[in-house]
Formats: sequence, C-alpha cells, structure tokens
Amino acid sequence: MSKIETKLIHSGREYNETKAVITPIYQTSTYLADPNPEEYIKSASTANYPYFYHRHGNPSNSQVSATLAALEQTEDAMVLATGMAAISTAVIAAVKSGDHIVAQTSHYSGTSLLFESLLPKYGVEITRVEQHKTQEIIDAIRPDTSLIYLETPSNPNLAITDLQRVAQVAKEKKITTMVDNTFASPINQKPKCLGIDIILHSASKYLGGHSDLTAGVICGPESFINKAWKTRLILGGNLAPMDSFLLARGLKTLKLRMEQINATTLSIAKFLENQEQIEDTLYPGLPSHPQHELASQQMTGFGGVVSIILKSKTSKDALIKAQQFLSSLKIFTNAASIGGVESLVVHPASMFGSHQENATSSVPAGLVRLSIGLEHPDDLMEDLKNALETIK
Ligand SMILES: *Cc1c(COP(=O)(O)O)cnc(C)c1O
Repeated sequence: MSKIETKLIHSGREYNETKAVITPIYQTSTYLADPNPEEYIKSASTANYPYFYHRHGNPSNSQVSATLAALEQTEDAMVLATGMAAISTAVIAAVKSGDHIVAQTSHYSGTSLLFESLLPKYGVEITRVEQHKTQEIIDAIRPDTSLIYLETPSNPNLAITDLQRVAQVAKEKKITTMVDNTFASPINQKPKCLGIDIILHSASKYLGGHSDLTAGVICGPESFINKAWKTRLILGGNLAPMDSFLLARGLKTLKLRMEQINATTLSIAKFLENQEQIEDTLYPGLPSHPQHELASQQMTGFGGVVSIILKSKTSKDALIKAQQFLSSLKIFTNAASIGGVESLVVHPASMFGSHQENATSSVPAGLVRLSIGLEHPDDLMEDLKNALETIK
C-alpha cells in the first residue's frame, strides 16, 4: 500500500475490529473495564487508547488518525474537536512560561487571538513577522525561542512562507517548527518533506470537505503526539464519534476533490485576473503572484482559495462595491469557512470590521475571498461575471 489514493481508503483498517466494512460509529462515552486491574490502569494512561473513556480515545478516531499520519507522512497523528482545539492544544503542549515564539503577522484569526490574548497571560512572548520576509523570521529568533509557528498559504491574502529554509535554520538551533497546512491540504503541500516537525489542520475544511463537521488534526512524531494527548486530556478537546466517522468518509475522496478544485480554481483565477472591475487577483498558482516561484517549488497544486481586490476610489466605495458584488452572486454562498464541495464567498473587512478606520488591519477594504467548490467552472465563471457587471 504505497500510493495515497489507496492509503486514503484503507489506512487504519486494523482499528476496525468488527465485520462491518466501514468502521462503525462508537456512540458511547465509556467502555467495559478490563477485569485485570493492571491492564485497566494501563489502558487509562496509554495515549489515544480507544476503549477506556471518550476523552481518552475512540476506535474511529484511531482509524482516521492513522489515515492522517499516512497522508502527512508523520509517525503519528491525533484528531480533536476543531481546528482551533488542535492549534491551541499543540502550541500549549510545545511551550512553557518564559518561552518565546516566532510567528507570522498574518494568521487565522483564532490563532492570532491565541498569540495576542491567551499565551501572554501565561508568560509566553510572541514576535510576529511578515511571512514573505524569510530573513526577518530568522532574525527574530532569540536564545529563548522554542517554537516557530507558520501558516502557508495564509488567510485571506494567500502569502507564502519558505518552509524549507525556515525548517533548516530551526533544526540547526533545535527549535520546534509547526505549520498550519489547512489552506494547501496534504495533497498540495507536504511540510514533513520540507523539514517541518508538526503539521496542523482544520479538518473542518478540505479534509472533511463537505461543510458538515468541525475537526482538527495534529500530525508529528509519536513523542510529540503523546505530549499533545496529555494536554488534550486536560483541555478536553477530543473529536466526537459522529464527526470522526464523517471525517473518515470525507477523506476517502480527498485526492479527487483536490485535483478538481486545483484545476477549477486556476481557471477561475485566470478569468478573474482579466476583469476590469478587479484591481488584483491573489492566487499562488498565477504567474503574477509575487511568490509564484516559491509556491511552485513547495506546492504541487494551489488549492481552492482565491482572493480578489475590487477596484474602488475610497474604502467606503470598496465596502459598498463588495457588498453589492456578494449580494449579486447566485451560486456562491456568503458564508464563513472554505474547503467544501459548494463554493463560498466572504468579505473579510465586513466580518472583522476593518472597513472602519483601523490602522492595524492588514486586510484591504475591497478584498473578497472565494472558496471554490466542485460546481462546473463555467457556471461559477458566469455567476462571477454577472455579479461583476453590477459593480461596473
Ligand atoms: C478554519 C481555520 C482554522 C480553525 O479551524 P476550526 O475548525 O474552525 O476551529 C485554523 N486555521 C485555518 C487556516 C483555518 O482556515
């Protein structure tokens, strides 16, 4: 079993101890105790042991984790209730009071809040650097730096971080590296092969792929997963049995979905680039992207998120145009999230209020983020064309 298509279907089969072809949903909070007290104690303290109590583990979670470890080519993996549960649990497991983290200026909003408002309360310091300036990431490293936290492509500006270069410097200095690989998906980007230690995902996006679950993943060496498991046990963020089943089901078609999404999104990005109402089209797959060369080196496809910046005279004008554009779209649904089979659209400046005079916001007022699904590209392009007509 060497190819990813096969692994997506069959990995973790050993965790299905029933005769059912598909691992059943173990909708139970607890399990019959082993009559041998020593065995029982062992089962309580073994990471992700699937038959003790749900906060410790679950058979479906063990199976889906095996698939995820195979996908990211890491020794082990662990699933959690949401992407943020994975990110917060992994970071809290990795650092202690007095440590320093180097992170990016642009991160998923929940991750930014973890760095800005939670960790500083516990004596962890964070320096945030623009991700396209690799040398500045390296220069931000201090003797007390224990973690470098990355995200590429980032949300919603699709900037790229040089994973290989940062991983190389971190290894020399014995600093742990983590990357949020959600936007790329494991099909398009393999951070482990570039030297990154820990890989995180919001499985609510491409991995689940159907906008019907929330889940998070931590992939890494067994020693780290054991540490993160102990942290998850305290924070309480294990993935629910039903969501684990849905994630396992969604994963089987990940390769097919990503290939189609990569192709459709590239053709849509090329179309958008030539529209007169659009100032800029941000997609790492376009030769016009400032980091296209780096993206092509570390990614094999560019995913389904493309951001556009609408032409406007003032930020007020941008806000009106963006809202007009969004309300004119018929196939694209105005909803948070990415990575499902249905195309979604959001206007981040409205979501986060940065259209108000806010000097700290890095998201332009006219930026609209599209998440491309599995509809036919012609229908999506027609929908976009019609909505662009209304803001001529
Ligand atoms: C959605 C998302 C998250 C958070 O995941 P949840 O499952 O919503 O908690 C983290 N990182 C990125 C890049 C995301 O897109």
